[in-house]
Amino acid sequence: MAVATHKELIAPHGGRLVDRTGERPEDVDRLETVRLTPRELSDLDMIACGALSPLEGFMGRDDYESVVESMHLTSGLPWALPVCLAVERSPQGDRIALADASGRLRAVLDVDEVFEYDKEREAERCFRTTEEEHPGVARLYAQHENYVSGCVTVFERAEPAFPELARDPAETREVFAERGWKRVVGFQTRNPIHRAHEYLTKVALETVDGLLIHPLVGETKSDDVPAATRVACYRVLVDNYYPAERVLVSSFPAAMRYAGPREAIWHAICRKNYGCSHFIVGRDHAGVGSYYGTYDAQLIFDEFEPHELDIEPMFFEHSFFCRTCGSMASAKTCPHPADDHVFLSGTKVREMLGNGELPPVEFSRPEVAKVLIDAYR
Ligand SMILES: [Zn+2]
Repeated sequence: MAVATHKELIAPHGGRLVDRTGERPEDVDRLETVRLTPRELSDLDMIACGALSPLEGFMGRDDYESVVESMHLTSGLPWALPVCLAVERSPQGDRIALADASGRLRAVLDVDEVFEYDKEREAERCFRTTEEEHPGVARLYAQHENYVSGCVTVFERAEPAFPELARDPAETREVFAERGWKRVVGFQTRNPIHRAHEYLTKVALETVDGLLIHPLVGETKSDDVPAATRVACYRVLVDNYYPAERVLVSSFPAAMRYAGPREAIWHAICRKNYGCSHFIVGRDHAGVGSYYGTYDAQLIFDEFEPHELDIEPMFFEHSFFCRTCGSMASAKTCPHPADDHVFLSGTKVREMLGNGELPPVEFSRPEVAKVLIDAYR
């Protein structure tokens, strides 16, 4: 196989990878400081490393309005979700320091503008609901009333949750090029991988050169499976059931927004920056509760012109083991009735794992189930 060069990988969104890391300014301690929420800190770090290319800072009003209304930046590039920094009041100076929740200084922002925004409208457009029960909407409603925009310079990156898995877009691209991968499929996950997910990642891998398993490790709802447990599951699964030279497990530092369809687009664009040419979109991607229709996260890709996003979505159905087919399958490929399928509800699986019981091997790899059983104890 010919070895891929960086040139052969998909181009970053907007054409080049942004790098907003830089030196700590001498006067930073004298600047007015804004403390970031975990979501804003994730966004900051992703701007710094180019995961949110072409963004070089938090969005200004024109880009914000354009993204909320029509899922495009003013430059015309697709972009699905606001990346904004909420502040209580207008800063005094033209430069502010950005700190994490503990007050440790991380970056400076050169203030471009401060503007008010309509939370209900942002919720309605981006989350398709104004209900406060929605975790993304709740977070939005809890924010300060103004957004401050401007270019950032990050002088101290956030400590990665899993240093051994932390790879910036430039680094994943390096790995892909070294391995000679040109076409790479990205898989977003915030859940342990059971047989169904293993199946669809492998079906996708059959058609490309490599697979990036890219678990989200930023802030999630408190009832999602903790990142440390999920990461342990990916490790045992990949070590035992995937060919090492065709898979890369790396962490995705984003916080969950639970914006369903729009987040699927946003996730795809981010993965393009990491060097993925393809992106897996399952049913109810990035959804929560029953706020989104089963296929909404797939249908939204039709709202863009063909090849406008450049990264190619790969749509998947729920899959299961079918006893009659004798293999993993989905409603698309198996003609047999539900009785033939090994299906367990999420509640049932949690109950079994909580009791220390292994789910059927057709549902979950025993190595993965053991990690989860230990975690539930
Ligand atoms: Zn079947």
